[in-house]
Amino acid sequence: MISARGIAATSATDPLVPWDFTRREPGPSDVLIHIHYCGVCHSDLHTVRGEWGTVPYPLVPGHEIVGRVASVGSHVTRFREGELVGVGCMVDSCRDCDPCRRGLEQYCEQGNTGTYAGIEAQTGRPTQGGYSTHIVVDQDFVLRIPDGLDPARTAPLLCAGITTWSPLREWKVGPGSRVGVVGLGGLGHMAVKLARALGAHVVVLTTSPGKVADALALGAHEVVLSGNEEAMRALRNSLHVIIDTVGAPHDLNAEMRLLTLDGTLVLLGGSPEPHPSPGAFTFITKRRRLAGSLIGGIAETQEMLDFCAAHGVMADIERIRPEDINTAYERMLRSDVKYRFVIDLEPLRQTTA
Ligand code: NAP
Ligand code: ZN
Ligand code: ZN
Repeated sequence: MISARGIAATSATDPLVPWDFTRREPGPSDVLIHIHYCGVCHSDLHTVRGEWGTVPYPLVPGHEIVGRVASVGSHVTRFREGELVGVGCMVDSCRDCDPCRRGLEQYCEQGNTGTYAGIEAQTGRPTQGGYSTHIVVDQDFVLRIPDGLDPARTAPLLCAGITTWSPLREWKVGPGSRVGVVGLGGLGHMAVKLARALGAHVVVLTTSPGKVADALALGAHEVVLSGNEEAMRALRNSLHVIIDTVGAPHDLNAEMRLLTLDGTLVLLGGSPEPHPSPGAFTFITKRRRLAGSLIGGIAETQEMLDFCAAHGVMADIERIRPEDINTAYERMLRSDVKYRFVIDLEPLRQTTA
């Protein structure tokens, strides 16, 4: 077994605290990774607070992991010691079902194995995530970090990046597309950067007047305060795709009306409570669609990382120490994120040395 130290939730309500635990002994196809950075996703918060259902405690969250390979198993061909690598939201899947064979492991018919709060096939124990010093992952779920990317600013690409990249690609966003991004947090700010790099015209819809200047600096062409009815009316029938990253119930009718003929509203936010249902006429009158999307496959994640390296796309981050995680959660709940917290795990490693 590999000794590790993590920052764990021990209940849905208590603050996260340091916790010593073990990782499985690496097998022949495993990669042992020393974690340097882990991004803080709103999904971590939903999960540890039990908003998405019952979870095992203690639980170490974190699925935006960047670190260096410490050792590789005898069957590992794709990675070598010392290499910079990433791990995202999944660490395993059945590899045999139709979605897995199509590189859509996130939609595995057996359910993908989440990086945390999943069940590790090798041991039957709960998986533990990236707010920790080390992780052991099968090579098929490890990503190469291309040269030229800053490691800390790359960590958020492993969830926020791929989660927004996948629908932008699925709905063929490129030059000539007009894309709306709702909610300027971790996912939203990556959606802006990626859509812009793909050549689209980008419109941000935010509830925060304080983020207007930032949205433009991040690459948006236009910013609209979603509470401003006049500005919302002026945007009607003008967007081909809307990427909605808000993880709380809100009015989807208002967004549906912004779509063009055949436009699609893609829900990414994992609101624990349902949204008020949009009315039939918002769909009927312009053949509009409402869709959802879950993270992205492994090959697609590698494609996104390579694209980001080629275009210099990285997250805007606030680097924090492990003990700052509880404050970061409180700020995330107030939409006060600029635009992803990333934990530097080095201080945690030093306390175990
Ligand atoms: P985040 O950094 O907290 O950003 C969410 C943004 O939504 C906020 O900054 C805020 O932007 C806006 N917002 C407006 N009203 C809100 C409210 N009542 N509560 C919370 N946010 C509100 O979160 P994130 O990490 O980007 O994640 C966003 C959602 O996507 C979460 O529900 C997360 O679980 C989910 N998610 C889904 C996937 C997937 O595969 N589909 C993957 C990762 C995360 P403004 O200030 O601009 O209004
Ligand atoms: Zn996430
Ligand atoms: Zn499968």
